Amino acid sequence: APVLYWFRQDLRLADLPALNAAAQAAADSGTTVLPCFILDDASPGEWALGEASQWWLHHSLLSLAEQITAKGGELVVRRGRSDEALAQLASETGAGRVYCSQAYEPWNRELEARVGKQLEAQDVSLHTLPGALLFAPGDILNQSGEAFKVFTPFWRRCRSQLPTDKLAQPPGDGAFAAGVVSGLATDDWDLLPKQWQPSPEWQDMWSPGTSGAARALETFIERALEGYRDDRDKPGVAGTSRLSPHLHWGEISPRQVLATLRAAGTDDLEDDREKFLAELGWREFNQHLLYHFPHIDAQPFKDDFRNMPWQANEEGYRAWCQGRTGYPIVDAGMRELWQTGFMHNRVRMICASFLTKHLLVPWQWGAKWFWDTLVDADLANNSGGWQWVAGCGADASPWFRIFNPVLQGKKFDPDGDYVRRWVPELAALPARHIHDPWDMPPMLLAAEGVELGADYPHPIVDHKEAREMALAAYQERSAGT
Ligand code: FAD
Repeated sequence: APVLYWFRQDLRLADLPALNAAAQAAADSGTTVLPCFILDDASPGEWALGEASQWWLHHSLLSLAEQITAKGGELVVRRGRSDEALAQLASETGAGRVYCSQAYEPWNRELEARVGKQLEAQDVSLHTLPGALLFAPGDILNQSGEAFKVFTPFWRRCRSQLPTDKLAQPPGDGAFAAGVVSGLATDDWDLLPKQWQPSPEWQDMWSPGTSGAARALETFIERALEGYRDDRDKPGVAGTSRLSPHLHWGEISPRQVLATLRAAGTDDLEDDREKFLAELGWREFNQHLLYHFPHIDAQPFKDDFRNMPWQANEEGYRAWCQGRTGYPIVDAGMRELWQTGFMHNRVRMICASFLTKHLLVPWQWGAKWFWDTLVDADLANNSGGWQWVAGCGADASPWFRIFNPVLQGKKFDPDGDYVRRWVPELAALPARHIHDPWDMPPMLLAAEGVELGADYPHPIVDHKEAREMALAAYQERSAGT
């Protein structure tokens, strides 16, 4: 009977300790590894995959299946509740052991426990190993043995002990089983969107799977690592790696990223490399936080924010989702998101700040929209990012830091290239006015073919008034505690 390997958010073959353990166990008993993936909409509850993630998963699974086929095996894809589907697979194949990588979302941890129990009931053992992070949550604790709640000391601790051990090679040819049991045909995965087609920009931008991940990292090291410290904040420049969806799905591990950076001899780019490592550190920090405080997937880390007088502003929320707020940098971000499944980090902060502070819409609404539309939707990073901006996170930006979207635009997109790309109706405006078209004399605006209120919306709120209302709401929250 084969050993089962249950792929989850670890869609790669190299540097995958749980897969190597499965291959070893199989080799020890003269058998092979049967790789499977379960399409499970039920177990994640409210965190079932968004449409952009489903698109990604479809292509990533295709790529994984191809790699497994090239090694003589076959990826079995089934649909159903993971615990039941795995139990079923074990009984069909007679497998006595199931291996998988650990995943840290609260629902995933519950699922692991459920799968373990279900399998145990039929005398099958479940073996879980880490593989998604640089450090297992629980291994990085402060001097009192508790979770860090502040990024800097957390990262200082991690940074001083970054792993240097050699990475495991993928299992060899002949390690995988084929033709043992049947799975769904690709056409029945039902992951591709039915209501919309990814835009040409979207298709050009992404290449799900391990080779796409390796290429993204290579391109980043060649073209953008030098200058990353400054350029990472400029949405009009290709200054970041765009590794986030690859990292989320485990197509590349952070240990592989580290090893590649080391091998590329990037010592002379120390400042840029440190900044990049620190961003991987934020990913690590968010995952560890969610592990220790599982309620922060949808509830504020800071309890007093439960009293925040948010407003169920449906109209404002809709304008925000559609990129029609009248603030060019916000609209550019929201349209980039819709058209590519991605948004630049600086603009994520600006858009999230606008929704939660200018419109006082609960951060959870924005997080949900991001969840559905981002190809890199990741529970820890998304909730962490939103809570950071909204001021209710562990090591958050203070609430009273309310981004002025015009000044943010002028500072980080000074030539207006980013706005021109995503808000084409403003493309003809001079850089000086592209972030505040309402300040431009109407005659000049008209000369560029723009009429506010017709071609592009007037701002849906006034920055100054919104800022005051946000500060007042924050005071009300404090008074209520
Ligand atoms: P790079 O700058 O090249 O960074 C390399 C890697 O480090 C990223 O791929 C990512 O894994 C990690 N990283 C970078 N910045 C951050 C950060 N601020 N927090 C945590 N990890 C980071 N990231 C997601 O992966 N999924 C999300 O769902 C997500 N939602 C967000 C929501 C909001 C409101 C905000 C403000 C940020 C969110 N982020 C999220 C974090 C960040 O915006 C993205 O990780 C980043 O933009 C990805 O681009 P990149 O791969 O080019 O980043």
